[in-house]
Amino acid sequence: MRHRIAVVGSGPAGLTFARVMHRHGYPVAVLERDPAPDARPPGGTLDLHEGMGQLALNKAGLLTEFQALSRPEGQAMRILDTDGTVLRDWRPRPDDRANPEIDRGQLRDLLLGPLDVQWGRSVTRVVPGTREGVAVHFADGRQETFDLVVGADGAWSRTRPAVSSVTPHYTGVTYVETSLDDVDTRHPDLARLIGDGSVAVYGVNRGLVAQRNSGGHVKVYAQFRAPLDWHTDLDLADVEAVRSSLLALFDGWAAPVLDLLRHGTAFVHRPLYVLPVSHTWTHVPGVTLLGDAAHLMPPLGAGANLAMLEGAELAESIATCRGDLDEAVRAFEEQMWARAGRWAKITTAGLERLVSPDPADALALFDRVQPS
Ligand SMILES: Cc1cc2nc3c(=O)[nH]c(=O)nc-3n(C[C@H](O)[C@H](O)[C@H](O)COP(=O)(O)OP(=O)(O)OC[C@H]3O[C@@H](n4cnc5c(N)ncnc54)[C@H](O)[C@@H]3O)c2cc1C
Repeated sequence: MRHRIAVVGSGPAGLTFARVMHRHGYPVAVLERDPAPDARPPGGTLDLHEGMGQLALNKAGLLTEFQALSRPEGQAMRILDTDGTVLRDWRPRPDDRANPEIDRGQLRDLLLGPLDVQWGRSVTRVVPGTREGVAVHFADGRQETFDLVVGADGAWSRTRPAVSSVTPHYTGVTYVETSLDDVDTRHPDLARLIGDGSVAVYGVNRGLVAQRNSGGHVKVYAQFRAPLDWHTDLDLADVEAVRSSLLALFDGWAAPVLDLLRHGTAFVHRPLYVLPVSHTWTHVPGVTLLGDAAHLMPPLGAGANLAMLEGAELAESIATCRGDLDEAVRAFEEQMWARAGRWAKITTAGLERLVSPDPADALALFDRVQPS
């Protein structure tokens, strides 16, 4: 008998899960709150690691297509002092495919392929243990039941309360994101500063990072330690007010570096929240979590990679389980918790070093993780 399986969310976790299930011939109901795939900007570029995101794409049969779309040159990383001095200028070898970059929109479209996502289906609650199975409640008042509901609905998961009472907490670090378009023609000096990949500048308790996406689009992240209510006297919708506030925060930094903020268009406020390191729960038959819903951690290059690998592994565990769905989920959870706990420790320590009272911490971290 075919199991009735739903995944809540069509981010990297949910789509990879559904796509690998599809490859094994298993249908999955993909329930997504957004009304359409392009309902909101997809976000910045992602580097997919060989043993994680790329491995997941391989399990989905999509590695070759990924290689055609991705940007290996985007692995380049430059670090500057706040006065603009270049401290490190790392470039990948021409054959280096360890962590190539891909735009999130391209990755989403690649994973979507033949999947029939149910757009505009906002889940409000998941209730396990009803007579018909696991009940999924929607914002429009409707309800459906499944044998397994996979919560891949991100940081503020509506599925999570079915297995855990834990909620995310603020890290003390806020990102404010802005963007530049057509950087090569409109801002050639900044294009040179950023190079093919990313440029990062670290000061005392703050940093500025710019990442090249495809098509001359650049995402800039101002990162700083601040209380959650740091913007009480600031209208976050007022672009010029936010720009002035950020320029004051980074006062004294080299003019070419501050141009990343001067030329930025809209500003998006992103306080960083995390779940406790090593978040686990007592197994609940019929419900599990993937990705940020299970282990939200600082954004240091692991979140989407873990989300995708978990999606692929859960799908494979189910596809090969010979009917014992619950056992397949249990085995997957044990594996996920152990690996995610390790990455949560690494990224939590990494955030402390990147946004640190001593900018030398960030440089030391770079030297430790970046192959020379
Ligand atoms: C600034 C920044 C930079 C990052 N850079 C990287 C990087 O370089 N590399 C990396 O690996 N990771 C990176 N990350 C982390 C990465 O973005 C996340 O870990 C990843 O997106 C998690 O994927 P997910 O599928 O679990 O959740 P999400 O991507 O959050 O997807 C969740 C989906 O669920 C949907 N949803 C939410 N609620 C509901 C609901 N109630 N009903 C139905 N649908 C719902 C959402 O609309 C969304 O489509 C970064 C994060 C940030 C903030």
